[in-house]
Parts: sequence; structure tokens; C-alpha cells
Amino acid sequence: MNPDLEKLVRLHRVDSELKHVLSDLAAIPRHRQEIDDRLARDRSHLDAAKAALEGSQKARKQNEASVQDLETKRSKYKGQLMDVKTNKEYTAVLHEIEGVERDIKAREDVILEEMEKAEALGQDVKREEADFKAVEADAKKEKLLLDARMATLGAEEKRLGKEHDEVAASVPEDLLALYTRVAKQRGTGVAEALEGMCQSCHVRMRVQIWVEVRKNDQIYQCESCSRVLYYEPPPPTVVVEP
Ligand SMILES: [Zn+2]
Repeated sequence: MNPDLEKLVRLHRVDSELKHVLSDLAAIPRHRQEIDDRLARDRSHLDAAKAALEGSQKARKQNEASVQDLETKRSKYKGQLMDVKTNKEYTAVLHEIEGVERDIKAREDVILEEMEKAEALGQDVKREEADFKAVEADAKKEKLLLDARMATLGAEEKRLGKEHDEVAASVPEDLLALYTRVAKQRGTGVAEALEGMCQSCHVRMRVQIWVEVRKNDQIYQCESCSRVLYYEPPPPTVVVEP
């Protein structure tokens, strides 16, 4: 292969690898955000379960306080029963007592309901706490892995950057300028030619060009996309002796 073409192909491979590394690096903050979002989502489930339990406990306490007040009221009415003068008054006070007792009964029913509800809600909280703990532990592990990956990719980026500089320095200036220009425009500056076709833009080349490109001894650009073309001969077929 023409030595300049060979260097350019090497530069192209280094740059492609570098591009992958950079795009993997760029994806890391998004992965981190996904982990944080998952944590926040699980935390909100736990918070909601806790809030539901607290709500139930509060409702129970309010009803218990009301029952106490109603019991005080009932004692007061019972005291009044001793002092009433007429039958009519007696019936009226009795009627009040009945009303208060109905109210007490209703509130005691609510208290029982809330106690049962709180038991189930307490189980929910326990389950959500366990879930959250597991997710939190996973997130910690995943973040450590991401840190390690970022370090590896960072080292790769450095190594490839250095290699890029070394190879680029060995490529003739005008050829490097051409490569850089096309790479900037098209994403890549070099394309493989295979079966008479540019493998990057998939445009078929003229037969005489294809014949020349196959020799790999000169710089040819794809007439359609301007990338520098190279030909990779197929690996030699191994003939197995019978
Ligand atoms: Zn092309």
C-alpha cells in the first residue's frame, strides 16, 4: 500500500475509535441521571407510603380525641339527668345522650378501621423501605462502575489522542488537510472500497477508477463523497490438504 495512504487509513481507524470513546464518555452523565431518576422515583414511593401511614394515624388520633370529648359530654348529660324536674326535660336529655352515644359508636368504628388500615399501610412502608434500600445499594454499585468506566474511557481518550497526533504528524500536510476537511464535513475522511463501491456513500465508482483503487498505490477520492478510498484485500484462503 502507498505509505501515505496507509498512514491515512491508520489515522482514520484511530479517529473512528476516538469518536466511539468520546460518544461513550458523553453518554455517562445521562446514565448517571437515569440512576438518580430511578432513586428519586423509588424514594417518592417510600415517601408516599409513609405519608399514607401518617395520615391514617392522624385520623385515628383525631377520632380518639373526639371520643374523649364526647364521653365528657355524655357524663355531663348524665349529671343533668339527676337535676331534671320534668318528664319532658328527662326525655330531652336522654335523647341528647343517645345522640352522643351514636356519635361515639360511629367514631369508634372509624378508629377500628383506621387501625386495620394502619397495619396494612405499615406493611407497605416496610416493603417500600426494603425496595428503596435495594435500589439504593444497586445505584451505588452502578455509580462505582460508571466511575471506573469513565476512568478507562478517559485513559483511552488520552492514548488515542496521542496516537492521532503522532500519525497525523507523519501524514503530508496537503493530504492531512484534505482528510480533515472531508472528515469535518462527512464525519469520516476515509472510506473502504469494496466490489467497485464506496462503502461509506454506497455510490458505485467508474470501472477504471475501481481498478486503480484496488492497487492501493495512489490517493483516490470517491467522486461522490470525496472520502479517500482504500481497498482491503480479502484474507488469503487457506487450502486444507486432504
Ligand atoms: Zn463515497
